[in-house]
Amino acid sequence: MTTHPLRPVLLAAGRSPRLERVVSTSRLTRPVVDRFVPGSTETEVLTAVRDLLDSGRYVSVDHLGEDTTDAAAATATLDAYLSLLQAFGGLPVTSSAPIRPLEISLKLSALGSSLPGDGHAVALANAQKICAAADAAGVWVTVDAEDHTTTDGALAIVRELRRDFPSLGVVVQAYLHRTEHDCRDLAGPGSRVRLCKGAYREPASVAYQSTDEVDASYERCLRILAEGEGYPMVATHDPRMIAAAARTGRPADSMEYQMLYGIRDAEQQRLVEAGNHVRVYVPFGTQWYGYFMRRLAERPANLTFFLRSLLTR
Ligand code: FAD
Repeated sequence: MTTHPLRPVLLAAGRSPRLERVVSTSRLTRPVVDRFVPGSTETEVLTAVRDLLDSGRYVSVDHLGEDTTDAAAATATLDAYLSLLQAFGGLPVTSSAPIRPLEISLKLSALGSSLPGDGHAVALANAQKICAAADAAGVWVTVDAEDHTTTDGALAIVRELRRDFPSLGVVVQAYLHRTEHDCRDLAGPGSRVRLCKGAYREPASVAYQSTDEVDASYERCLRILAEGEGYPMVATHDPRMIAAAARTGRPADSMEYQMLYGIRDAEQQRLVEAGNHVRVYVPFGTQWYGYFMRRLAERPANLTFFLRSLLTR
């Protein structure tokens, strides 16, 4: 079984500034984007966060943006996260330590990691400020995984940050050949690891290409994390992967399921009712294009939904 033929086309479109201008400026797109991105402002995202917390779910909020090419944009991302962390103070959160209901997710490329010259140092310094503010606010932080050319740099920054912030989480992508090895490295005591399949367009030299291979890798990585001493975060909407996680026998309070905002809401609630920790990844901001195109690429039904909404207006 291979992945959907439109996936590479949509992922390539997600990197096109010209298409981004067309799609982002069309007022027809917005209602479809709203399904996956609950708002462009902090106020809007906090409303969505409150609703999710009320329903017994946890959240991980992502300020949208990636591939930052100037230092001012990286500083703006830093400021957005610091402001969000402050605003989290107004939420009615009862912390059931050691699990933190509030989390933020960061893309290091939005914090400057791909700036020429001192990108690594800029991203590290920005991430340090965010981790310190999050720690003070009782909020977890997890570093997202981007395309494979960034994996070594991201893991190096995570290792440096974990010296001061041991609860820092990290995302690994099952489609990469290297990830089983990374999971073994990361499965130590207290290590929070979010396992996802992977959302970028990657070459066969570094990544499994077929659905079956990616799923098999996901299950192998899941077993390594479940048998380890860390805190596995099972990020998937796939019923087969969710069943595989349950089969590992890992106690429900020592792991969590994670899904994206707007996807399989009923399943999220079912998992909560069955006594599991469930965290919803909630993106917000104006730079939703890349995120949105990756969601379309994942599921042809999302694309049909998008096209139908354009045609029926
Ligand atoms: P898929 O292979 O997409 O779907 C498998 C099955 O799941 C489908 O056949 C269907 O049965 C079910 N399903 C999927 N979508 C739906 C739907 N909309 N409605 C109903 N059923 C559905 N990727 C990265 O590269 N880096 C990251 O940092 C990252 N962070 C993530 C964080 C979270 C919390 C999550 C949930 C995902 C993240 N991803 C990230 C995206 C991830 O890599 C996948 O691209 C995405 O989750 C789709 O894979 P899947 O496991 O859900 O299964």
